[in-house]
Order: sequence, then C-alpha cells, then structure tokens
Amino acid sequence: MLGLMMNEPLRIAGLLEHAAKWHSTTEIVSRLTEGGIHRYTYHAAHQRAKQLANVLTELGVQNGDRIGTLAWNNHRHFELYYGVSGIGAVCHTINPRLFPEQLVYIINHAADRFLFFDLTFLPLVEKLAPLCPKVEAWVLMTDRAHMPTASALPDIRCYEDLLAAHSAEFTWPDFDENTASSLCYTSGTTDQPKGVLYSHRSTVLHSYAAGLPDCFNCSARDVILPVVPMFHVNAWGIPYLAPLIGCKLVLPGPGLDAASLFELFEQEHVTFSAGVPTIWFGLLTFMREKKARFSTLKQMIVGGASCPPALLKAFDDELGVHIRHAWGMSETSPLGTVNSSKSSQLSLSPDEQFAISTKQGRSIFGIDMKIVDDHDQELPHDGVAFGDLLVRGPFVAGGYYESDNRSQFTADGWFRTGDVATIDPEGFMNITDRSKDVIKSGGEWISSIDLENLAIAHPSIAEAAVIGLPHPKWSERPLLVVVRKPDTEVSQEELLLFFDGKVASWWKPDAVEFVEQLPHTATGKLLKTKLRQDFAGYEFP
Ligand code: ADP
Repeated sequence: MLGLMMNEPLRIAGLLEHAAKWHSTTEIVSRLTEGGIHRYTYHAAHQRAKQLANVLTELGVQNGDRIGTLAWNNHRHFELYYGVSGIGAVCHTINPRLFPEQLVYIINHAADRFLFFDLTFLPLVEKLAPLCPKVEAWVLMTDRAHMPTASALPDIRCYEDLLAAHSAEFTWPDFDENTASSLCYTSGTTDQPKGVLYSHRSTVLHSYAAGLPDCFNCSARDVILPVVPMFHVNAWGIPYLAPLIGCKLVLPGPGLDAASLFELFEQEHVTFSAGVPTIWFGLLTFMREKKARFSTLKQMIVGGASCPPALLKAFDDELGVHIRHAWGMSETSPLGTVNSSKSSQLSLSPDEQFAISTKQGRSIFGIDMKIVDDHDQELPHDGVAFGDLLVRGPFVAGGYYESDNRSQFTADGWFRTGDVATIDPEGFMNITDRSKDVIKSGGEWISSIDLENLAIAHPSIAEAAVIGLPHPKWSERPLLVVVRKPDTEVSQEELLLFFDGKVASWWKPDAVEFVEQLPHTATGKLLKTKLRQDFAGYEFP
C-alpha cells in the first residue's frame, strides 16, 4: 500500500522558488570578476534565473543536455546553477585549475553544448575552443562594456545581452526527481577524470542534510561565504543550502587572498564559512600579522583534506572561530562526515574533547559507512583497526557518467572511497590515508596524515608531506618532506626530535628533506604521486 501524501518531486528550482517567495529581500552579494561588488535579492536572482531559462530554451537546450561553466563563485554562476538544472538540463561545472588537456578531455567527454565562462578565463577558453568542436557557442559571463573587441573565439556571446533580451515569465517544468541536475568530474590524479552525475533528488536531500545542526548548523540568521569553489563539487552544496534556509549568501569571486576575504567577512558580517585547510592557513598568517580579529565570523567547516589539529586550535584559541572538521568527496555530494560532539563527550576533559574534534567526524543521515580489510570483511569500530572506507546512501554516486568503470563499486551496493580510516565506538571516523598513500613498514601501517599533522605543529614548518619509499629491510619507510616558514631555521635532527614521545618510535620518519614548495592537485591537495616521482631512487641516510 502506498502512502497518501502529495507526490511532489524534489527539484532544485524549488529551492530558489522558496527563497524568492519567503526570503525575497534577503541578499546575495558577489565580488565581481570585473571588479566591484554586486548585490541583489533572492527575488531578483529568481527572476534572472527564469530569464536564463528562457535564453536556454530559445537556444534549443533539451532535457539532459550538458551546459558547461568555467566560473568563480558569483551571482551569474548561481543563476546558471538554477536556470540550467531548472529546465532539466545538466549544469556541468568545470575546474579551471585542471591542466588544459584534462579540460579538453572533460568538455568533450561531457559533450557540453554551450559553455559559460568568466572574464578571467577568456585566454584559456580561446586555447580550448579549437579542441572542443562540440561546443556550439561560448558565453562570456559579463556585460556589453566588458566584452572583448576582438577574440579568437568562433561564436562568443554576451551573458547580459542574452538575459536582457528575454523575459522573466517562466514556469519551471515538472519532471522526475531522479533527473540529472549537475555534473562534476573528479580531478583524476592517476587516471582520466570521472564524471559524477548528481540528480535533483540527491541534491535536495543533501541540502537538507547539510542544514542540520550537527552538520553546518546554519539558519536564516546566518551569512554564509563559501570559499570552496562553485566549480568543484558544487561549493559543498552551499548554493543550494542557502536558499533552502533563506540566509544571506556572499560569493567571493576571484578574490581568494587573505586580505580580500577578510575585507568581505567584515563588510558583509559573515558568520559562517567553508573551505580547504590551505586557505585558512593563509588567513591565519594574515590575521596574526595584522593583529586582526573577526567581528561576526563564528564557525567554519574545514575539509577536502585533513585539517591539522594546529589549525583547529589556532582558530579556536586566537580568533574565537570554531572549526568543524568534515570529510567527503565528489562522489558523496560531497558531505560524508562532520565532526560535532555528542552529549556523552561533554563531561570529558578539554584535551580529550579536542582529540576527538580532530577526527573527520560522524556519519550524517544519508551516509552509511563501514571499514573493511583486504577481503572485504568488516572491521570493528574500536578506533584502532583501520581499513578501506566504504559508503552508501541516496547522495552517493552509483556509477560514473558514460563509463563502464565499476571497480570502485561493490556487487552489494557500496562505494569504495579509496580512503583508509578507523571508526571509534562513538562512530567518529578518522582518515589515516588515501589507500594509495598508505606506508607499509615491516607489515604494519603508518599513517602519513598523522605524521604530517605533527610536523605542521612545529613552529618553523609551513607545509609537510610524508611519503613511503622502498626500504631493503622494512619494505617501506616514511620520508618527511617539508617547506619551512620564511625566515625560520630548523634542522633535520631538531625536526625528528620533535616526534619523540608523540608517535610510536617506529613511525618516526627516517629522514627529512627541505623543499621550496610541495606539488598540489587542481583542488589544492598534496600531489603525492608527483612527490614519489621526485624522490624515486632516493636512498635513506
Ligand atoms: P578530487 O580532488 O580527486 O576530485 P575530491 O575533491 O572528491 O576528489 O576529494 C576527495 C578526497 O579528499 C577524499 O577521498 C579524501 O582522500 C580527501 N579528503 C576530503 N576531506 C578530507 C578530510 N577532512 N581529511 C582527510 N582527507 C580528506
């Protein structure tokens, strides 16, 4: 027997419709690529998203067609999120930081019909265009005044001209909630990028989950500034969450340096933000140098890479900003776990509570997880056993776009994350490594992340990476590669002494190498494949 409730499909356009109706005067503020600040309301954003829907319809965009974007976090990108998905097409956000060959592969693999891009990316797009024959037209997300007088692009259109020529009279169509809504390719550090194809249903459910108090803990009284880019994993779902809860949204555009961010945090009274650790280290240095303090920023979500305990502590103690550590990936929409305490923890000592807060957190409703050994046998939740992390749920990818690759999916419906983790008796998950980065020494595993977090806690170290290198006796031993902070001195011996008493003696790196900088992926993560190449043939002293 079926229930007797209205069978209204969950659709992305419904989120903006809701905000436009019930939070009509709440603002979306953007730092423009062209310079200056743009501000309008949810009502105006909705009108423009409907104008865009008319533009796309007239261009002949059909249900399921892919529309590419190469853009920063700004109001026009926001309109594309809603205008494209709203008509049943797929908003394909592309990461401009990828190598040009990867961009060409992704645009052609997705067969994007139209590509919308920000002014910054004009030179890039001019190079890509001849190699992307399926793109029918390139739309520059700017006004007439900023259009180039000459361009190598075959068919270049002006976003504001297109919108101006169309009315805001539009009714969002009804369709199955499982219809594809957006597409995001994983960075693909080892193989070709793989497309994760989200649906309206998965996106709306993920937005509900993100809004929970134990998740982002945001409400209509908040002002959210996502530093995480809208070109990668939908800025962790914030452009959908903000209209759902009706809060003010601040989009930082290309200004991701510490000074520009701080200015926007203060000017717009931002209360909540989200981003990868690298951004916050930059901001922390800036705040210390300027002896500056935030007037309204109270909480942040940090994830995408392991958040070093030193960063958590500094933000809490020095700046009064509480960081919640979170874990996820493109394939999980991306929220998988968020670290927020349980009542049973409140009676623990501050040090014990802090130790728990450094983990990647608890599963949120909608994500089931388990850790397994090499034979897929489930491992205990004792906080000690570590194994491959598997997840499943209604906002976890069940396959990749136009790909037969099923190697990451088990026959019984789990997704292999490629991460190695422990889970403690309270359900707090702790990532110890990517499976391909795990160091196996004498048959035992050493966590490179734990060692990196320790190294970064040393006052002279700006960034650290630990890789396993072949060793005649132990099969592999850890090498610590570090970047020193400017104007600081620290020797290999001093740094190694720093590990004494903090980790088991056999975890201690065998050697330290000092470098000017470490290699990163397009999403700002340590590129350990490159580091292993750089140190191939290295001999421990
Ligand atoms: P890519 O950058 O390859 O496209 P994602 O952005 O989806 O992939 O990154 C997902 C991966 O990032 C996770 O599988 C995990 O290895 C890493 N990651 C994300 N959050 C954390 C975290 N809080 N701690 C450690 N690793 C993390």
